[in-house]
Amino acid sequence: MNHRSLPFRLAVWYALLLSATFTLVGAGMYYGLDHYLRSRLSDSLSRRSEQVEQILQQAPAGTSDAQIARSVDTRVAPEFNNRFVRITRAPSTPIYRSGRPADHSFDPTTIGPLAGPWPARSAARRVPTNDGPVMISATPVQTPSGRYLVELGSSLEQVDDVQDRLLILLALLLPVLVACAAGGGYLLVQGALRPVERMSQTAARISVQNLDERLPIMRTGDALQELSLSLNHMLSRLRESVQTSRRFLADASHELRTPLTVIKGELQETVRDPHCPAELRERIGSTLEEVARLERLVSGLLVLSRLDAGEAQREWLEVDLAELAASTVEQMRLVAEDRGLQLNAAALQPLTVHGDRGRLKQVIVNLLDNAIKFTPRGGVVTLRTELREGDGYLEVTDTGIGIPTVAQPHVFDRFYRVDEARSREDGQEVGGTGLGLSIVRSICFAHGAQVSVESTPGHGSRFQVRFPQAGQRPAVPPSVPAAAETASRSARPVPAVTATS
Ligand code: ADP
Repeated sequence: MNHRSLPFRLAVWYALLLSATFTLVGAGMYYGLDHYLRSRLSDSLSRRSEQVEQILQQAPAGTSDAQIARSVDTRVAPEFNNRFVRITRAPSTPIYRSGRPADHSFDPTTIGPLAGPWPARSAARRVPTNDGPVMISATPVQTPSGRYLVELGSSLEQVDDVQDRLLILLALLLPVLVACAAGGGYLLVQGALRPVERMSQTAARISVQNLDERLPIMRTGDALQELSLSLNHMLSRLRESVQTSRRFLADASHELRTPLTVIKGELQETVRDPHCPAELRERIGSTLEEVARLERLVSGLLVLSRLDAGEAQREWLEVDLAELAASTVEQMRLVAEDRGLQLNAAALQPLTVHGDRGRLKQVIVNLLDNAIKFTPRGGVVTLRTELREGDGYLEVTDTGIGIPTVAQPHVFDRFYRVDEARSREDGQEVGGTGLGLSIVRSICFAHGAQVSVESTPGHGSRFQVRFPQAGQRPAVPPSVPAAAETASRSARPVPAVTATS
């Protein structure tokens, strides 16, 4: 159980508060009852005491102690009424003491005389005996024949019994009530927080990729309902602004391509001019390289913005990934051989996935392109597809320079390049844009697939794309941009793949 959770803390507070309240109420009840029972007993003793007083007051002069005792026995009947009666004449002559009560609740012989001076008015005291405590009320009586102390008593056993029972009841009831209340409170708060939990689960799922999703509205009519509505409004505004910036990026990339093509054309024409001086031709050559890089960048940005916008859900088909991989390998084999690399596609097992053929091809091209770029001469690049435990896998493995461990978590980030100075063994600049792997990730996301990397610097890298439950995936397109609009970042001659929309 989470000790810091709101339900737990509320339940603990609830339990403490209830314990304090119940303890106070229990103590009040206990002492109230104690007071009530004692005053009832004391009243009853006073009434009996008045009877004895009357006997003493009405006794004619010369009445013997035995006659007084008889009158008390007859009119008060202490033994029968389970009462204790003792009459003492001042200063300390005992003239009467009742016998053992019918219920044997105390032994009168064990009740000692009042210690100290007699009280001026009736006073009660508690006298412990072997059979239990007895309450004794002592009243001084002044009669013509002398001064007497009348002591009337009764066992406190029944009063103590009732109190004990109340105490036991409270001791049993209190923990049960507190546990029930605290448990109920815990469940209540947990129930009340469930919609918030649902809201946070939905919120955790929402990212820039699925800003269309909305939080569940909590129909509680209070601050929680307002919160869910406000958050949904915020999401709508957020979606709007993200769409606007995506549209801007897509439009800007699109608009940039025409002037770039014009610049490239003009430069190429100038280079081809036989009157062009050699020095100028060289400069134009390096400018053309930058223009080509700019073109790749703009194309990459356009692809990403379209993937982000979830545009175009065309071309969503069953794709034979093994066949697609084999044909792509064939198209790239020349490039690999040019660089003295072995392109190995022997481990292609049948694998069918649902998706956009053009986009999936771009994933393979981008991964192979990187593997070729970052593997020195004599190296091997292997492509494999397989179906394992229901999931489909596409893997590109190389024996290249690898990726430093600290860089591995970032290689799929946009514009991330491990080290711009990294170049091939043959000294040829690789000239990447840092967008290739982010395009791979976006396409994988659109296909419900995950791409991951494992790499050992100096030994090679392995990029793996996992298509969960590839065998049973429905042919329902999420949002995949048009294959026709595919623009590869690759500037290498891979005709069927490198679309320059
Ligand atoms: P770029 O277009 O610059 O290659 P990517 O997004 O494709 O950008 O890759 C990002 C970075 O990851 C690259 O700069 C490169 O250093 C590294 N990288 C990608 N694939 C490999 C690989 N197979 N071997 C070594 N490094 C790689």
